[in-house]
Amino acid sequence: MANPIASASSAALTFDLIARCSTTRARASVLTLPHGPVELPIFMPVATQASLKGLTPEQLEETGCRLCLNNTYHLGLKPGQTVLAAIGGAHKLQGWDHNLLTDSGGFQMVSLLKLANITEEGVKFLSPHDGTPMLLTPEHSIALQNTIGSDIMMQLDDVLVTTSPDAARMREAMERSVRWLDRCIAAHQNPRTQNLFCIIQGGLDADMRRACCAAMVARDTPGIAIGGLSGGEAKADFCRVVVTCTALLPELKPRYVMGIGYPEDLVVSVALGADMFDCVWPTRTARFGNAVTRRGVLNIRNARYANDFGPLEDGCGCVCCRGAGEDGKGGIGVGVTRAFVHHNTAKETVAAHLLSIHNVWYQLNLMRKVRAAIIADEYPAFLRRFFADLYDDKADYPEWAVDALRGVGVDLRVDDT
Ligand SMILES: [Zn+2]
Repeated sequence: MANPIASASSAALTFDLIARCSTTRARASVLTLPHGPVELPIFMPVATQASLKGLTPEQLEETGCRLCLNNTYHLGLKPGQTVLAAIGGAHKLQGWDHNLLTDSGGFQMVSLLKLANITEEGVKFLSPHDGTPMLLTPEHSIALQNTIGSDIMMQLDDVLVTTSPDAARMREAMERSVRWLDRCIAAHQNPRTQNLFCIIQGGLDADMRRACCAAMVARDTPGIAIGGLSGGEAKADFCRVVVTCTALLPELKPRYVMGIGYPEDLVVSVALGADMFDCVWPTRTARFGNAVTRRGVLNIRNARYANDFGPLEDGCGCVCCRGAGEDGKGGIGVGVTRAFVHHNTAKETVAAHLLSIHNVWYQLNLMRKVRAAIIADEYPAFLRRFFADLYDDKADYPEWAVDALRGVGVDLRVDDT
């Protein structure tokens, strides 16, 4: 590891700052968790039922992933807390010796269950099995996550969609999230082996976000998340919230923007000072036949790929693409071709599987390139190249990205000299 510029440790985590971009707010760091070091910025794939849809733990490891997400809600239902306790946690359950992050379970309940109802006590809902009333409290969420044994646990928060017009309810949710954090901290049984992150709420209101930042930072959790975003707000509003929060957060703690996964959102959020991201999008979109590439998203179901013997993406190092295409000797290499994936997209799960591997690898590799560019202090040039690859014409660049990056000193429409 390169010599850190600065470091900070808490009981179960060390944060080493390796480099700062001299133009934007981007940073490169190493986050050392109980199951090993993780290089930031990072994209974390989501393994919903303790398995990433379409990938085995070995294949996930092969993509370079050293930190992935599990859903507390799904694990709590199946196999359930008793089985998890008996087997010794989710790492053992899924044969994953690297780091895990779990959500609180609250968001899943609110988004999946129509009948969820939030009170000061917790999230009330009806069991999807037999309809009996159940209650997820901050204490119950932490007990479940303690049993799961995740390296990073998330507090239970009161989440509203950012576009909610009800300012009073938004303030209540933000303030309740702070109170619930205190209950989570009090309930946490394993602070020496598991890290509890707080989640900043407050919708799109900058003052509310600032107030929440101050309250959450005062609680001194080992890491900090910015929550409630990617709920349909305008991208410009999303960027304003991220930049408002990162300006107020301590430099030597990891900053996690929840639910973000489109490549453009990732590279812009890094420039705004965020380090960690997660999203189901790369694997979900794979199941619709989509390959994520530096030139954009390609739908491999399209008939034009039936006779395309190139790899999903030229130069991609994932296990599917490696070796595909011309072998330089007049033949075709051993990798998987677009034509093969196209042939399977309509009827076989193998296509979703191959596209998942490729897409997760793309996301992780994108973040590796982001990190290398920050360390070389070439992140503004990286951003200009990234958007030039994605759009043929500078006039087509999304205005929100152009504006957000201009705000941190990068003009996307200027050529590098
Ligand atoms: Zn690939």
